[in-house]
Amino acid sequence: MFKNIRNIEKILFGRGSYRMLKDIIEPNRNQNNGFFLFIVDHFFHPKNHHLSIPAEPEDAVVYIDVDPHEPTTEQVDHLRDEIKESKGIPAGVIGIGGGSILDIAKAVSLMFTNEGSSAQYQGLNLIKNPGVYHVGVPTISGTGAECSSTAVLTGPQKKLGIKCEWTVFDQVILDPELTATVPAEKWFYTGMDTYIHCIESEKGIMNNAFSRAFADEALKLCREVYLGASAGQTPENDDKLMVASLMGGMSLTYSEVGVCHALSYGLSKILGYRHGYANCVAFQHLNDFYPEGVSEFQQMLAKHKIRLPQHLSREWSESQIHAMAEVAYNLPHMWHHALGDDWKNQISVESVTALYKRL
Ligand code: NAD
Ligand code: ZN
Repeated sequence: MFKNIRNIEKILFGRGSYRMLKDIIEPNRNQNNGFFLFIVDHFFHPKNHHLSIPAEPEDAVVYIDVDPHEPTTEQVDHLRDEIKESKGIPAGVIGIGGGSILDIAKAVSLMFTNEGSSAQYQGLNLIKNPGVYHVGVPTISGTGAECSSTAVLTGPQKKLGIKCEWTVFDQVILDPELTATVPAEKWFYTGMDTYIHCIESEKGIMNNAFSRAFADEALKLCREVYLGASAGQTPENDDKLMVASLMGGMSLTYSEVGVCHALSYGLSKILGYRHGYANCVAFQHLNDFYPEGVSEFQQMLAKHKIRLPQHLSREWSESQIHAMAEVAYNLPHMWHHALGDDWKNQISVESVTALYKRL
C-alpha cells in the first residue's frame, strides 16, 4: 500500500533553539484574528519553573495540567469554544509540552476551522478543512507526537486519533535542553514509547525499507541512551532521545504499532493509565509476540532499576477486563499489522481478555 506522507514543514533542532520561537512565529501573526494561542504544560507555569513564553499582550497563554487524565475530546472542544468566544480565531497555536500537550495543540488547531465536536473527527481523514498554523515544541522525548499525523484523544466512545495530513505540525522546534528537568521514571516510560514503537513497527506486515531505516536508527539511539556505557539522563543522551523519538514517529508514518499499543489503549481508556507506563506494563508480558524486544526491554528495566507491578489483573474486575478487551480488539489496524491478513482467525475478544489476564 502506498502512502503519500505529509511531513512537518520545518524542523529546527539544537540546544537553545527554543529561543528562536518568537522570530519564527512572528511572520504568521497577521493571520485570522491576529493573536497566538500558547498551550503549555503546567510544569512550565511561572509558579513552578521558569520558561520564557514569547507572548505579546494580545496573545493567550493556557497552562494545562496533563496529569489527571490524557487529552479528551471534551477538553479540546471546551478550549476551542472558550478562545473563539473571547478572542476569535488565532493566527496560530503553539504547543509546548509532552505528547499530551502536542496532541491538544494539534487537535485545537484543527477544531478552529472544523465545526462541531472533535469526537466526530476521531478516525482517518474525517477532518474537512486544514487547521490554523500550528507549532510543536516537545519537552519530553518519546511519543513521536511531534511528527505524527494523529492527535490522540479519548472521547466518549473511544481512544482514537484525529488522523489526517493537516494534523501534522507546520513547524517543530526540537530543543533537547527543554527535557533536562524530566523526572527519571517519566524519562524511562515516555522514552520506552519510542523503543516499543520501533519494535512494533518492524514486527508487522506494514514494515518496509522506509519504516525499517527510521526504526533501526531510532533503536540504535535507544540502545545508547538506555543500555550504553554512558546510559542515563545526560545532555548528550537527551539530544539522542529527541532524535530517536522523531525517527520512531517517522517509522510509524509508513508502518503501524501492534499488540502492545492495542493493550495499552485499553489500559488508558478504562483504567486511566498513562500511555508510556501502560505500554511498559503490557510489553513485559509479550514475549511470544516480540521475543528479542521484550528481552532487551528487561535489560533496560534492570539497568534503570525500574520495577513494574506484577499480577495487576488480580485486582481488576471481570467487567473491567472485558471492557479493556473490547477497546483493544476494536483497533483492527494494529492487529492486522501485527498478525497479518488473517488476524481475525488468531485474535478474538476472548483471546485479548486472556492477554490482559497475563498482566
Ligand atoms: P505527557 O505529555 O502526558 O506528560 C507526562 C508528564 O511529564 C507530565 O507530568 C508533564 O507535566 C511532565 N513533563 C513534560 N515535560 C517535562 C519537563 N521538561 N520537565 C518535567 N516534567 C515534564 O507525556 P507523554 O508520554 O509525552 O505523552 C503521552 C500522551 O501522548 C498520551 O496521551 C498518548 O496518547 C499520546 N501519544 C500520542 C502520539 C501521537 O502520535 N500523537 C503517539 C504516542 C503517544
Ligand atoms: Zn506510543
